[in-house]
Amino acid sequence: MKTGNAILSSYGTTIFEVMSRLAQGVGAVNLGQGFPDGNGPDDVVAVAADYLRNGLNQYPSMMGLPELRQAVAQHNKRFYGLDVDWAREVMVTSGGTEAITGALFGLIEPGDEVVLIEPLYDSYLPIVRRAGAVPRLVRLEPPDWTLPRAALAAAFSDKTKLILLNSPMNPCAKVFTTDELEFIAALMLRHDAFAVCDEVYEHIVFDGGRHVSLITLPGMRDRVVRIGSAGKTFSLTGWKVGYLTAAPELLTPIAKAHQFITFTTPPNLQKAVAYGLGKDDAYFDSLARDLEAKRDRLGRGLAEIGFEVLPCHGTYFITTDFRPLGFNGDDAAFCKWITTEAKVAAVPVSAFYDGGGVGYYARFAFCKENASLDEALARLRRHFRK
Ligand code: GLN
Repeated sequence: MKTGNAILSSYGTTIFEVMSRLAQGVGAVNLGQGFPDGNGPDDVVAVAADYLRNGLNQYPSMMGLPELRQAVAQHNKRFYGLDVDWAREVMVTSGGTEAITGALFGLIEPGDEVVLIEPLYDSYLPIVRRAGAVPRLVRLEPPDWTLPRAALAAAFSDKTKLILLNSPMNPCAKVFTTDELEFIAALMLRHDAFAVCDEVYEHIVFDGGRHVSLITLPGMRDRVVRIGSAGKTFSLTGWKVGYLTAAPELLTPIAKAHQFITFTTPPNLQKAVAYGLGKDDAYFDSLARDLEAKRDRLGRGLAEIGFEVLPCHGTYFITTDFRPLGFNGDDAAFCKWITTEAKVAAVPVSAFYDGGGVGYYARFAFCKENASLDEALARLRRHFRK
């Protein structure tokens, strides 16, 4: 009998689904998959509810509602000083993941090379491969996650179509510096390459740091696809509303992919996100400040229990080295063990490496109510008898 597509069939079920279902099955506090356990900002949800009840329920334009595209353009100006033509340079997608997939399918020609940096979000590689590209992987290693510049330069060639860059970076909580981005920009210019920038954690940067968007660097405006996400910016991950900003020459082929993948995104949610992007600075500041406090709450507790907690500069995630706890097994076994025995779920960091990772790091999501974080810590404390 014939079989399904070989590339996609070679992958198992995504680790986020696996750990969340396991957590649900055993009643674990889920610090695995990165989603907040609150209900998002009331005012944003109220706008969506209003439009759901009062008549915005049919297909909107495939490019997205003009109000949201205008709001995305204004957001680019407000936070990054970018002048964006909303009608030609902004498209709404069904989440950041769809934006990434659309960008890859829209830009890649079979045989192209794509540079990716590990650890990486798990949808990147299957889609790059399914689009027919040859991945060139560059590894960042814990505990420092330093950008290996020589290896990165060696991964680029004149066959490089694009680099897929995630900053702030999941799972390692690295925020790329201007200097690192300049190094990447120089490679892109030398090899005539594009960048697809997954910047969904753009507003979740800590300790007074700032997210720098590659698209703002000299020579990058026409080479970079910048992706944002309402899921992360408004703590509404199930809404699956993303947005993409790119020069018309890049956006046009990406829109061709989008029109055949999801075509469009719920209009009532788009209205609410348009409203949300216009919220005042206090909203964006408190998003980062609240999550920073949660990072510290969970990080302190995990350190007291005996984990070695790596620095975290942004995103929803803390990476921990569990060797001090004396577990005899790899990170996948450790995460399964604490999920089923301590009833706290985490995600193994090796799931973010193609050929396996270092094998003793676990990722914990801290984007949860304080009560959930405290309960998780209490359970881990009991489990490790501290
Ligand atoms: N980005 C989220 C994480 O890393 C989850 C996304 C997903 O579940 N596909 O946990």
